[in-house]
Amino acid sequence: MATTPLLACDALVHDPYGSHGPPIYQTSTFTFERTADAAAIFAGEKAGFVYTRIGNPTVAAWEKRVAELEGRDTGKEAVALAFSSGMGAISAAVMAAVSAGDHLVATEPLYGGTATLFSELLPRFGVKVTRVVDGDMPAVERAVREPRTKVVFIETPANPTLDIVDIRRAAEIAHAAQARLFVDNTFATPILQRPLALGADVVLHSSTKYLGGHGTVVGGVVVTADREFLAGPVQDMRKLLGAVASPFDAWLLYQGAKTLELRVLHASETARRLAAELAQHRMVGWVRYPGLADDPGHEVAERQMSGFGAMIAFGIRGGSEAGKVFMDALQVAVRAVSLGCTDTLVEHPASMTHSHLPAEERAKAGITEDLIRVSVGLESADELEKDILGALDWAEVAMNAPVGA
Ligand code: PLP
Repeated sequence: MATTPLLACDALVHDPYGSHGPPIYQTSTFTFERTADAAAIFAGEKAGFVYTRIGNPTVAAWEKRVAELEGRDTGKEAVALAFSSGMGAISAAVMAAVSAGDHLVATEPLYGGTATLFSELLPRFGVKVTRVVDGDMPAVERAVREPRTKVVFIETPANPTLDIVDIRRAAEIAHAAQARLFVDNTFATPILQRPLALGADVVLHSSTKYLGGHGTVVGGVVVTADREFLAGPVQDMRKLLGAVASPFDAWLLYQGAKTLELRVLHASETARRLAAELAQHRMVGWVRYPGLADDPGHEVAERQMSGFGAMIAFGIRGGSEAGKVFMDALQVAVRAVSLGCTDTLVEHPASMTHSHLPAEERAKAGITEDLIRVSVGLESADELEKDILGALDWAEVAMNAPVGA
């Protein structure tokens, strides 16, 4: 009888043909020489593959790779499970950690889907949720005093405001209450931030974004050094909810991760330049980019990140009307939700990614009507700056034009 449950990656062996990359095992089921082999795998006594919803060699190769990325230089041995989306990963990991009667504390803002999971789905199953604005640590400290607090959930940098939450402090507070700290690391990637090294227990990603990096896959991952938690309740949740990554998507993600560092560093450098230019523009009321020295999150970001990333939020003067004119004038950057892609993607959260949240909830989380979110891609920095600053100039002209002109 196995004491620690097994993960699919435990069954990985060298490909007999020496294939350089992982082959795509595009199969739903696996065959057995003898019934006893199948029985041993089903009983969790032997590592192996039986059915792709439970485990698949291509998916396991991707899981091993992403665990290496998040575990690197943390002094911890990380393990990972891949899901069919970031929401699949977040929902399964959270539901694996809480039961009816438990309490979860989450900072805000968060990605809109995660916010809705906490405000609508978890309460339907008897889980109490407390939201704390702006990474206010004394408020988190008060909130975890509630009995049966099992999870503190943070997202940093946060979507879409780029708020920064102090991971080390959040971990101390969570652990003092015997709760786990969950960190959504989608915006930073393991290239710029390793939450496990800062005390986080569970790291989550929408691998749809930087990890895949080319806008071709929807996926998610759960990474942790707590093998018992991952191989037990999280793996069970994935089996039951069925939100598993497909072999082809896992293969695309594996390819994407090969250029992760190059992409993230290049886009971050362009973003650093663009944020400084935006801060000078007459049509820009405010800019949030953790790399700007006067950004409220700069000091903490400098401590916990090795770079500031490629996401920028700014407020356009003239609100959403001016925002529409600006967005429609873009010719290099594209108007699209999602982020972390080779192309620069620009969106208006109040009418797109966060539009399903009640207006008061958006306002409380700092998601104002004038907020424009930019995910900087890999275009030439000069070309991109010209496009974005030119579109702002155009919006200025259009907003000042006399009616009917
Ligand atoms: N977490 C963050 C920070 C996100 O931005 C997103 C999606 O935009 C998600 C989670 C959800 O990921 P997915 O769309 O892959 O389900």
